[in-house]
This record gives sequence, C-alpha cells and structure tokens, in this order.
Amino acid sequence: MSKYIQGATGEWEVVIGLEIHAQVLSEAKLFSGSSTKFGAEPNTQVSFVCSAMPGMLPVINEECIRQAIRTGLAMGCEINLRSVFDRKNYFYADLPQGYQISQFKDPIVGEGVMEVTLEDGTTKVIGIERLHLEQDAGKSMHDQHPSQTYVDLNRCGVALMEIVSKPDMRSAEEAGAYFRKIRTLVRYAGTCDGNMDQGSMRADVNVSVRRPGAELGTRSETKNVNSIRFMMQVIDFETRRQIDLLEDGGEVAQETRQFDPSTGTTSSLRSKEEAHDYRYFPDPDLLPLEFSQDYVDELAKNMPELPDAKKARFVKDLGISDYNAAVLVAEKENADYFEGLLVDLSGKTGQDKAKIATQAANWVIVDLFGALKKVAKPITDSPVSIQHGAELLALQVDGTISGRIAKDVFEIMLETGDNPEKIVEDKGLKQVSDTGAIEVMIDEVLAANQDKVEQYRGGKDKLFGFFVGQVMKKTQGKANPQVVNQLLRPKLDG
Ligand code: ADP
Ligand code: MG
Repeated sequence: MSKYIQGATGEWEVVIGLEIHAQVLSEAKLFSGSSTKFGAEPNTQVSFVCSAMPGMLPVINEECIRQAIRTGLAMGCEINLRSVFDRKNYFYADLPQGYQISQFKDPIVGEGVMEVTLEDGTTKVIGIERLHLEQDAGKSMHDQHPSQTYVDLNRCGVALMEIVSKPDMRSAEEAGAYFRKIRTLVRYAGTCDGNMDQGSMRADVNVSVRRPGAELGTRSETKNVNSIRFMMQVIDFETRRQIDLLEDGGEVAQETRQFDPSTGTTSSLRSKEEAHDYRYFPDPDLLPLEFSQDYVDELAKNMPELPDAKKARFVKDLGISDYNAAVLVAEKENADYFEGLLVDLSGKTGQDKAKIATQAANWVIVDLFGALKKVAKPITDSPVSIQHGAELLALQVDGTISGRIAKDVFEIMLETGDNPEKIVEDKGLKQVSDTGAIEVMIDEVLAANQDKVEQYRGGKDKLFGFFVGQVMKKTQGKANPQVVNQLLRPKLDG
C-alpha cells in the first residue's frame, strides 16, 4: 500500500509532530506543597504560590525532577545535567501569575529515538526532540452562572511534562502507535497515570502536507486533544482540509485550531504565536537546575522492567508468540496479571513455566479479555481473580477437565464468582479417564451403529470422527478425548 495520499492533482504526504502533555505523578505541585489530587472541591488545593500572591517564591519539588528524569530514561533520551526554568509570558484568566514557568532553551531531557510497532507488524522509528517541565494552568468554569465565569485554581502549578516529537510521523496510525507507546512507558515507569479522561495526558497535534520529497509544508496545530481516537480524527480531517485547500490554489495558514468531537472537525482558534511573542527569559526566582551523573545513574539502576524488555523476555524465556507477548505487555496491569497467574499455575501443577505459558497466555488473551470486554471492566477489577484463573488452568493441565468443559466452568465462575474446583465438584464435571467406563460406552456406540461400523471397515475412514463424537456425547463432553481415541481405534479396526 502506498503511504501517499492520492489527491485530484497528484500524490501528497502527511507530516505529523506531537507535543504530548503528561501530568507528573507526584503528591505535590511543581513549585509548591499543594496537593495534586484529582476531583477535589474547587480552590481547595491552592497555596499562596499557586495563586501568585505578591512576595511568594517558587521552590522546586525534587519528586517532579526525579519523575521527569525517569521518563526521559524510559524513553531512551539524553538527560541534561543542567537545565533552566524560563518564564513564558501570556495572559490567561486562569493563570494568575501572568506567566507560565516552563523550560525553553535548556530542557531537562534532550533527544532520543523510539521504535513503535504498527498493525501490519512493521516497525517505525520516531525521533523525540525533548521533554521539558512546566506548570499547568487553572480551569475557567463557564457553566456555573448565567453571566459570570468562575475559576478553579486546583490545577494551577501542577507539574506537566511536555514531550515533543520530531515531525517524523506519516499517518494517523503511526501517531496513534507513538502516543500509545508513550502512554505505556509512563505508566510502567509510574511517572504519569495516563488517565486521559481526567486530563492527565493530552496532545497538541501538528499536521502539514507536502508533495512526496518536498520541503516541509506549513502546519496547523490543534490544541488539547484528549483521546487517541480524537487525535486520529484530527489528523484525517486536517490532511483532507489542507490538501483540498492547496489543490484549489489556496495556502495553509500557520495557526492554532481546536477540535470539535461532536462533528469530528477542527476550526481556527487564533493565528500562531511565535516564541518572541512570549518574551521568554530565565526565571530570576529559580536557579538553573543542576544534578550529577551519579544521581541519574542511581535512578536508572532502579527503573522497573519496561515493556520492550518484558516482551523480549516473554518470547525468549517463555516461548510466547511475538503477537501474544505484545498484547500482554501493552498494559502493565495485564502483564502483571499474566505473570501472577503463571507463578500460581506453575506452583499448583509443578510444571515448568515455559511449558504452560502459551496455554496461560491464550486463556488470558482470548477468554479473560473477551469476558472483561463484555462486562466493560478493567483487569484490576476482574471478576476472576488470579488464583481462580490459575486453579481453572491447573484443572485442565492435570487432565481433571477438558478444554471444552473449562469454557463452561469459566462461564459459571463469571456469574457466581465461585472457585472452579467447587464448580467442577458440585456439577460433576470431572473428565472421565477411567478406561473401563469409556470402553463400555464405546461398545454401546458400536452396537447401536452397526451399519456405520461396516462402512468404516469397508474403507470409509472418515467415520472415525463420528464415533468419537458419539462417545463424547454419551458422556456430556466429559470423556477424555485422548483416551477415547486410544480405545476406539483397535475396537473399530478389530
Ligand atoms: P511550538 O509549537 O511550540 O511553536 P516547535 O517548533 O517545537 O513548537 O514544534 C512543535 C511540534 O510541531 C513538534 O512536535 C514538531 O515536530 C512539529 N512540527 C514542526 N514543523 C512541522 C511541520 N511542518 N509539519 C508537522 N509538524 C511539524
Ligand atoms: Mg506547540
């Protein structure tokens, strides 16, 4: 498939760069001790610093620095041992300081590259320009009073990491994969909760189009897009709009736009400000930020296992397929559930993890994820605990129940929350492996189907499956199919 888009006058290429704002996971704000907890009553988490009372001075919160460095490490970026906080001056009704403390020329994290995997299995490398720390603003509330606007300063001064990509993405799919990967990384590192519906992560989406191989075109920047689906809609809409504009002989304006989720369209907000409009200058209240390489090394040493490494380990040590491993590591909670399950299952069955990992992975991905999707619950709220899941699989591994019966038991577990051993016991679902009992049933089936036995012996091999099916039916699916096969063959051939 061509990566170019066919227009009326020839091919076009879309170019995308993302600025992702991720709220730092930290109890307190970037320069004050006020709480960052979500959902509090308006203006209950506002210190004199957050509300910019005269004479108040910002004091850096070391936890936010640590988290920014750890995020940079998770993304494989360069860490700058010296960075500078600047004032970005602009008027905003919900920003009492009259400026935002941000980082301009010298950010805390520098360049890096990140590899993302696309749906067709191919990979794509996307450059990261920088990550800098900055303050969030408050929130204007226009819907509380018919003629007045209220302001909630709880978010004012909360630490944000702005992660800026290079203009390296060439489709909505690539942008989606990149965003998802960053979200996965910050959640693994525990540096941002990634809750997009609470505004913890949002993106400014820069889009331009050009003729293949030409210079970069003029971009539009759509602000504050708060879901991956919306981001992909923005890219598709902007691509179409810009191509149509250019093909009609018009020009793309460099401007800031906003997205309307109800129509799936973007509209102009204002023409683009340039950096000099903000009169950036180093904040005289804050010293340049300096730390040692030892400090960074110590943080690096204590990073948790990240998704790429986890995926490689699942494939290499556990023999899980590439695809299944990718699915399992995409969310840390899923990987944790799977690993917990495997430990339990291995303990219960005495089997080596690598021998049972594929079966466990298939059960988690197909059965459990399917069930969770139906009840719209996250895995952390799974109606089937790790322990019960492991019990169910152990019953299969040791041959107590067949795969067929396991599906029924699972359905009952979802409904009742009972443990599988109890369900199997209560409902008498144990697999019949007793050769004597199965032999009796085989004899009955053969006696009742003499005509088919003749046909089979006359060369109609395919009838073998029919006989297996009849025996299974007689046992309501409880006969061990392997035992049935072993006993049936000699009797038929007999
Ligand atoms: P700002 O928006 O703050 O003025 P930058 O120049 O840092 O900032 O660019 C912001 C984002 O825009 C980056 O992610 C960059 O990759 C992207 N970008 C820059 N030029 C283009 C372009 N021509 N088309 C698409 N994206 C672009
Ligand atoms: Mg920008």
